[in-house]
Amino acid sequence: MDEALRAGKVSAIANVILTVFKVVAGIFANSTALIADGIHSLVDVLGSILVWLGIKVAERPADASHPYGHFKAESLAEMAVGLVIILSSLLILHESVLSLVNGSVPNFESYAVAVALFSAIANELLARYKIRVGVKTRSTSLIAEGKHSRVDVLSSMAVVVGFILVYLGYWWADSVVAIAISVVILQIGGSVLKNSIDVLMDRVDEELALKVKSVLEKIDGVKSVDFIGTRGTMKSKIVEVHFTVDIGMDAETIDVIQKEISEEIKERIPEVVNVVCVVNITKPKVLAIPIDLNGHYTGELDSPSFVIVDLESGERKVVENPHHRAEKKKGYLISEFLEKYSVNMVAVKKVGEGARAHLRSRGILVKVVNSGLRNIEDVLRAVS
Ligand SMILES: [Zn+2]
Repeated sequence: MDEALRAGKVSAIANVILTVFKVVAGIFANSTALIADGIHSLVDVLGSILVWLGIKVAERPADASHPYGHFKAESLAEMAVGLVIILSSLLILHESVLSLVNGSVPNFESYAVAVALFSAIANELLARYKIRVGVKTRSTSLIAEGKHSRVDVLSSMAVVVGFILVYLGYWWADSVVAIAISVVILQIGGSVLKNSIDVLMDRVDEELALKVKSVLEKIDGVKSVDFIGTRGTMKSKIVEVHFTVDIGMDAETIDVIQKEISEEIKERIPEVVNVVCVVNITKPKVLAIPIDLNGHYTGELDSPSFVIVDLESGERKVVENPHHRAEKKKGYLISEFLEKYSVNMVAVKKVGEGARAHLRSRGILVKVVNSGLRNIEDVLRAVS
């Protein structure tokens, strides 16, 4: 990252120098286009400074008065810069239209042409440098800045062409070039402003949401992904995920899943600084009530039969427990048997640790129901 930051710094310093040269030469040669190009460079410097600022601000940890961090400060600065950029473009537009109306002609000064030409060459070198370092350090923002410098090359070349046209007698060329540059600056300002508004309004980042979803879907124990929210800046994102787990899952396992989700997302998507998890639990749908041969509630998992109740439709059926007299692995076998009937809740008085673990692993919640009850209706009432 150090090399990327240095590239940004070199670019900003170069642009400050170009700004001074272009504005001064533009004033002396009476060229609106050259002044506009100078202001264009200044606007670019403001943008670069914003990138530094953003990294600094985003690094500041959350504190007691700002528990969600400080990342929105960057967007506030961005918004201010965006407005300044838009204002400066309107200023240039006004000036160039005025000089067009007044028939103001720049002096064809060789130093002014030289400054514009030098600016074009410098920007081409900057573009190559930033793209090279950007590729090397995998900094997409630096690569984007490098591509932007190519636009700056065109801007300065337009000034040169304007001068040549003025020299050939087309007096209006300089103002027309200035108008074109002001439109380019207006676009830069607009995108900066839009970016800041997107962050302040918590606009969703669809691409990021898709990435988060694909990570979640690979995590064991996540039954469904219910909601994904994203917010934050390009460099520091906060992700909120809602997902559903089986009703029988114990708190420790849910805790492990949450940690896994958070770590996996942060590892795969480095710009994510915080993951908020909300866990939903599947609703009890099918209840199994153990009964004896007289149809009374026993509260024992190894009873001869079960009443299987569909809690949504109210439908009931009695099934025999084939593992009623099993010698070994009774908990395992009965859990497997209940799962076949899509049972996700079982009413018992008490259950051993081993059997409880088997039930949990199949997503079946153990509901402890008072031993005094005998009647199925009473058990149903106690469960609901
Ligand atoms: Zn530019």
